[in-house]
Amino acid sequence: MKKRIGLLYGGKSAEHEVSLSTAHAVIGALDFDKYEVYPIFITLDGEWRRGERLEGPVNTIEQLQFGDHTATLENNITDFLIDKKQESTHLLSNQQQNSSESLTKQSVHFDVIFPLLHGTNGEDGTVQGLLEVLNLPYVGNGVLASSAGMDKVIMKQLFEIAGLPQVPYTHFIRSEWVKEQEAVLARCEQTLQWPMFVKPANLGSSVGISKATNRDELVKAIKVALQYDRKIVIEQGIEAREIELAVLGNDFPKVSVAGEIKAVTDFYDYDSKYKDGSTTLIIPAELSQDTIASLEDFAKRAFKAIDGSGLVRADFFVTADDKIYINEVNTMPGFTPFSMYPLLWQETGVSYSALIDCLVELAIERYEEKQ
Ligand code: ADP
Ligand code: MG
Ligand code: MG
Repeated sequence: MKKRIGLLYGGKSAEHEVSLSTAHAVIGALDFDKYEVYPIFITLDGEWRRGERLEGPVNTIEQLQFGDHTATLENNITDFLIDKKQESTHLLSNQQQNSSESLTKQSVHFDVIFPLLHGTNGEDGTVQGLLEVLNLPYVGNGVLASSAGMDKVIMKQLFEIAGLPQVPYTHFIRSEWVKEQEAVLARCEQTLQWPMFVKPANLGSSVGISKATNRDELVKAIKVALQYDRKIVIEQGIEAREIELAVLGNDFPKVSVAGEIKAVTDFYDYDSKYKDGSTTLIIPAELSQDTIASLEDFAKRAFKAIDGSGLVRADFFVTADDKIYINEVNTMPGFTPFSMYPLLWQETGVSYSALIDCLVELAIERYEEKQ
């Protein structure tokens, strides 16, 4: 029997657009003989819309936002994200609704939800929590791993406990800045060397991140970051290659070959990630066997440190003298066929559609283990 997949995309997030591209690509790669595919679009305002079953790939990304299938459901979202066990109750409520004019769609009993959401309200454990409450299997990391992976401070603290090497950093919250700006700046200058990287703790895709080479720039960078988050991380900048590994699995995760990102810009910022194609991905990255072995070990440890499941992309800095520092893990990494995560698996021998199949299986495996 075909598996019914609900593809959750868009989202109330700075990474909304990225998610649309991802959804477009995933739909293009799904085997419609194997899956029944339902789009579930979350608008930038956070409104949920479920579409009709897709008959095949969609032509344009715009169709995913404005197509016929995105007609708004006025009912509660739980009307279309249903716990299989509660089927009978919901069927009953459907019958009641059937008689009313407002019903636009039948409920679907999903076998698995694929949250193709990045950043806030998607990759951060909130949607995962909703899916847990609804008792639905879903692809990727659970609540804890997602939220730990989204908060750069918590993530660093977990990595520290796991003994993973990291660049020096400090952090503060907005009220500390408002009250004791001078003390915060002094702490940065005492504990870190220039240049520094200023980051909102809870974002991704380089949004709100800037590099500062002196105090003036640092103040400016902090003000920018504070527009996005109340919690800020300041890191010592490092001159290094950016190397990424893909982790896939649940209790016994596998690690891909390593890939390198070469950015033309000063650092791997939002535009170079998604817009102007000014980055090159080198897969596999040229590294010594020893470095690769350490990276593989660190990637698995990072996955375990956050209690990962399904997938993470583990991102590292590797210096000219082969020192390794973990930068971060991303619990829902870029996932178009041109993104690092799927390309790393491709090179390791797992095609894009095989990867999607595997993630769906892992989601069901984790769900069943819990029951
Ligand atoms: P995001 O979660 O938004 O991807 P990152 O922490 O990965 O945030 O930072 C984005 C990019 O900024 C990195 O890919 C890298 O190019 C640059 N960067 C971040 N931190 C540092 C650092 N400490 N030293 C040098 N470059 C950094
Ligand atoms: Mg990130
Ligand atoms: Mg990153």
